[in-house]
Amino acid sequence: MGALIQVEELRKTYRVGGGTLDVLKGVSLTVAEGEFVAIMGPSGSGKSTLMQILGLLDRPSAGTYRLLGLDVSRLTDDEGAALRSKVIGFIFQMFNLLARTSALDNVALPMLYTGEPGRAARATELLTEVGLGDRLDHAPNQLSGGQQQRVAVARALTNRPRLIFADEPTGNLASDQAEDILRRLVEFNRAGITVVMVTHEPDIAAYAKRVIKLKDGVIVSDEANPSPRIPFGEPAAKAAGGALTKVPLPRGLTAVELREHFVSALKSMLANKVRSALSMLGILIGVTAVIAMLAIGKGAQKSVEERLSSLGSNLLMLFPSAPRGAGGARGGAGSFSRLTLDDVAAIRRSNPGILLAAGEVNGGVQVVYGDQNASTTLTGGTADYAAMHNDAPYYGRFFTEQEDKDRARVALLGQTVVTELFGDANPVGKTINVNHIKFKVIGILPRKGSGGFRDQDDVVVVPLNTAMRRVLGSYYLNMISIECANPQVMDGVMDAVRTLMRKRHRLPDYKDDDFTLRNMADIQAALAGTSQVFSLLLGIVAAISLLVGGIGIMNIMLVSVSERTREIGLRKAIGATRRAVLIQFLIEAAAMSTLGGIIGILLGCAIAFVMSTWAGWAAIVTPQSVILAFAFSAGTGVLFGFWPARKASLLSPIEALRYE
Ligand code: ADP
Ligand code: MG
Repeated sequence: MGALIQVEELRKTYRVGGGTLDVLKGVSLTVAEGEFVAIMGPSGSGKSTLMQILGLLDRPSAGTYRLLGLDVSRLTDDEGAALRSKVIGFIFQMFNLLARTSALDNVALPMLYTGEPGRAARATELLTEVGLGDRLDHAPNQLSGGQQQRVAVARALTNRPRLIFADEPTGNLASDQAEDILRRLVEFNRAGITVVMVTHEPDIAAYAKRVIKLKDGVIVSDEANPSPRIPFGEPAAKAAGGALTKVPLPRGLTAVELREHFVSALKSMLANKVRSALSMLGILIGVTAVIAMLAIGKGAQKSVEERLSSLGSNLLMLFPSAPRGAGGARGGAGSFSRLTLDDVAAIRRSNPGILLAAGEVNGGVQVVYGDQNASTTLTGGTADYAAMHNDAPYYGRFFTEQEDKDRARVALLGQTVVTELFGDANPVGKTINVNHIKFKVIGILPRKGSGGFRDQDDVVVVPLNTAMRRVLGSYYLNMISIECANPQVMDGVMDAVRTLMRKRHRLPDYKDDDFTLRNMADIQAALAGTSQVFSLLLGIVAAISLLVGGIGIMNIMLVSVSERTREIGLRKAIGATRRAVLIQFLIEAAAMSTLGGIIGILLGCAIAFVMSTWAGWAAIVTPQSVILAFAFSAGTGVLFGFWPARKASLLSPIEALRYE
């Protein structure tokens, strides 16, 4: 049989502190296919170092190493990983099983990195073979030392290796368990697998067919063992080894591998519940805040838009306001200008483009029916009010011009007032008291919903003259609505009204207007402006919270990587490429942040729901905001998980395995 392992003048030098330590000082050695070699020597003589170089876990400082005739110094890390996964099986003194992972999954793990199907079947077969057919679901901490090592032995066989390296495989076992492991090594060797075993016990080395002794980094003897010890119970020869004809290439990621990493990410989150919860808190709070704020903002915007569109786009509004510019500062409350019914009449005549002009007054009142009472807003309007404000009664009728002239005591109620005074009963035809004056209810106004923070249904509408003379006792209007014939005449009407009002108020040229004239376009533009500021603030909140959340995730991933250094080393030893490790940790980070994001989305929706039902604010969660929050939280995990994941992927397998 040809040479499987061929090393010449192999050297390994470690840098320790300031100086260097020569651990291997020129080792030359050939191992043929089918041999069973024991490497012996006192502690610290370099046995493990040699085995790790032979197993492609470490690289020599000098010398050449050919495995299967291949110069391994030319292989990249990932090619080395692929070769390890196909050709080599490892058994370590410390077993190195994945914690919290079943025996079955531990044994199936090497096949994850080769992408071969039938993992569970193969793992079951191997575990049954090592006598653990009834322990498939046991995690390492539910198994004895001997059983754990048998799992490790089964794992070494998973990918049908040609070569098994065992470093003190019985070092941590009682003698009967040790015997069992050795019997299996002999068995494998008889089936054609080459075995290289490191041990410092002559009793153990006696099973090998060849014994190499190492001292201070050089081979001091290399002898055949003419009569290897036969383990208790004659081993059965099984065909275990498969022939490898060409060097395998590292391969891409499979869907199975992705799913496996996702499941293991969930497992590790479950294993560290509190820690994971705390680290996703940043993202969770951020996403919650953004979803809730977006929902409330959207709701407010929508109700304002609805109200505006219900007012009609041909409408102008004239409000009294304090003059500005006269003394450089705003006047006090007393210097507010006043709007009168004469103004309304003058405005109506001022421009042919004006269809209607109507005054409006508002004031707080107390309304009583029977033993129920409520404080609400009284609005006095003309008979045109219903048409101009899209307020045709939902039930009953509106008042007439004649009733307005007669100062009739008739009222229409908003739906909030109806509920407060009458409950479910029909109020039309009933008599109520408004500030101790009797009014007959003639209709119910349509439901308008809340406009931002004000309930538009909490209102009583009465004729303008009635309101001014009988109830509020006011001579001045709170607002004049002007309806134009069409949008084209609007600018002309605005100019005419402004000129008229300045003249009526005798304003000299150097003074500013003492009234505010608005059209719907202005109001819409003002609203758009505030919603832009709102969006900007929201964006800043989102960015800060995602940054804080991302740092939390990065921090915990760094902890996780250093905690699991041995696991990473093991995964690499059994064939995980750099990319596989990188992806594993990226998935873990993304899973954590996405979970935080999902909980945040749910919480944000819940807050929006509570707001809209209890506080009466409209809150609308849009699908876009949910998708955006989801994508951002997943993206944050990937972004901030990248550095820790890369750190994990670059760990050298042997440094990782030696890590304590
Ligand atoms: P053993 O024959 O007991 O298995 P090892 O091969 O593990 O010995 O180690 C041989 C020597 O190399 C020891 O003296 C150890 O201290 C040293 N050594 C091993 N690994 C490192 C390392 N990463 N850095 C520095 N020194 C090391
Ligand atoms: Mg050792």
